[in-house]
Amino acid sequence: MPQEPQNAKDQFTYDAIVIGSGISGGWAAKELCEQGLKTLVLERGRDVQHIKDYPTATMDPWEFKHRGAMTKAFLDENPLISRAAGYGEDDAHFFVKDKDHPYIQEKPFDWIRGYQVGGKSLTWGRACQRWSKFEFENPARFGYGIEWPIGYDDVAPWYSHVEKFIGVCGNKDGIEAMPDGEFLPPFDMNAVQEHISNKIKENYPDRHLVHARWAHITKPEQIHIDQGRVKCMARNLCMRGCPFGGYFSSVSSTLPWAKKTGNLTIRPFSVVHSIIYDEKLGKATGVKVIDTNTKAEFVYKARIIFMNASALNTNLILLNSKSERFPNGLGNDNGLLGKYIAFQNYRASVTADMDGFLDRYYFGRNPTELILANYRNLHKQETDYKGGFTTFMGAYRNRGPKETGEGEVGGAYKDSLTEPGGWSAYMYLQGETIPKVSNHVRLSPDKKDQWGIPLLITSVEYDENDERMIQDFLTQTAAMFEKAGCTNIQKHENKQAPGLDIHEMGGVRMGKDPKTSLLNQWNQLHLCKNVFVTDGACMATTGNQSPSILYMALTARAATYAVGEFKKGNL
Ligand SMILES: Cc1cc2nc3c(=O)[nH]c(=O)nc-3n(C[C@H](O)[C@H](O)[C@H](O)COP(=O)(O)OP(=O)(O)OC[C@H]3O[C@@H](n4cnc5c(N)ncnc54)[C@H](O)[C@@H]3O)c2cc1C
Repeated sequence: MPQEPQNAKDQFTYDAIVIGSGISGGWAAKELCEQGLKTLVLERGRDVQHIKDYPTATMDPWEFKHRGAMTKAFLDENPLISRAAGYGEDDAHFFVKDKDHPYIQEKPFDWIRGYQVGGKSLTWGRACQRWSKFEFENPARFGYGIEWPIGYDDVAPWYSHVEKFIGVCGNKDGIEAMPDGEFLPPFDMNAVQEHISNKIKENYPDRHLVHARWAHITKPEQIHIDQGRVKCMARNLCMRGCPFGGYFSSVSSTLPWAKKTGNLTIRPFSVVHSIIYDEKLGKATGVKVIDTNTKAEFVYKARIIFMNASALNTNLILLNSKSERFPNGLGNDNGLLGKYIAFQNYRASVTADMDGFLDRYYFGRNPTELILANYRNLHKQETDYKGGFTTFMGAYRNRGPKETGEGEVGGAYKDSLTEPGGWSAYMYLQGETIPKVSNHVRLSPDKKDQWGIPLLITSVEYDENDERMIQDFLTQTAAMFEKAGCTNIQKHENKQAPGLDIHEMGGVRMGKDPKTSLLNQWNQLHLCKNVFVTDGACMATTGNQSPSILYMALTARAATYAVGEFKKGNL
């Protein structure tokens, strides 16, 4: 860590600054450092070191004070964050606490955050499908989004670059709606998954339920061993941090790799307040930072700034970067900064039972799910809603209690727990949503956080299009389960607020036209070229694939471009 500056006038100079150390920030750090730039990563949370800071990684259920559950007092104090998928006693330390990081929900919005080195890369679900050309092209083609300034072919080599480094398992399935990548061997399907996949294929030739594409190392290659990562042990305890480095996080992979170059400085406990713009130079010169412990303010300078604080925090920082030239936030002449926030539709699922297959089991705890690639609105607009959806699928054996007939007490119940029961299966929705100008974030004019930074106001909601997609998903998915011979098919609609999908995007969207977008095809602010936004804030539309691997690919692409421009003296 650099020597602490004594006051705000003291300044540290780097070639590049990266704001945020999560999934996208880790990639910015890796590429910038590897390509020779002295890089400072500013992270608002505490430091987290691979293995050493995974305190629960090897604990058994009975070693937890509350067997993995949270106390009522804790849940009462943290009603919001404790709703996050997979949140529990074993991983709560990788999520924020509600009262420490307030924001204002003009409409219900569950903003799920992990403030530490590694960000949400420690706890993410690891699903890693590529966008197809349909996702880049169809929003403009079918009139529900602006034209992307790039297409699939621009990103494809960067997807490959990222996949090879992080390790993504999967099968090459040749599906138009979900292009193949550089895959390590897939996890096996279990007997019921395979059966349902085959039945879907038989009944719906255009629907493909295929192996997971997940950021897990199933067979390490040299590049993974060089990172100190080995094969995934299928423990399915990923959200605690993996001592094997079996799944990708920036803590196990990109940040230590960047560190090895000797070009990386990480400064935890450093919340970025704003970006400093120099009107004479016509570019950003650095960032204003507040030490989260001491509340001291200082300035770090650099020729390039990468914004990777995660979508809404990047919006917040830019909105808060006010100057005479940009009174409404950096690069915000068109007034669109903070607007067109979108997310993914996670409101529906279908569950079912499957008779038979009682002589079949599975080995290990597969940490992945099958993926049913989008089959809606690909070549033409064919439904009463816009956009498409991915479906995730799992099948598992229950324990025996259903068969004891004595309820969940007594010796027979206890014995039955050691026996596998019948099979159940589920599928759930991950749907595209339409970016709308009304779905936005803005700064509170008067309320501030403990560091004096304005609170973010979220004004984001689901719409009619989402409702119609949910109905179609429920009908189609139930029909697929029926055709596969399932019983007890149940449709569920969870009514959750946006945000809980944890796939919030937009607000600083890419586009061809500076009148309707904030970023160009290299993720540079149109009006301040040395500031690059490569986290989810840059997304012009949401697509239906899990988005994080696209943020990584866009980051690697933009960072390589930035280094080129830096070396030519253009930045
Ligand atoms: C339970 C769960 C399951 C998920 N499943 C999937 C999945 O299967 N597939 C998928 O694609 N995505 C998934 N996601 C989403 C994924 O985690 C995010 O898309 C991804 O982490 C975003 O990367 P990022 O770099 O933008 O942000 P993050 O990884 O959140 O990193 C942002 C970092 O910036 C720091 N920061 C914020 N503000 C400031 C500031 N002002 N100054 C300094 N630092 C700051 C934060 O502390 C954080 O460390 C999941 C997330 C969760 C929590």
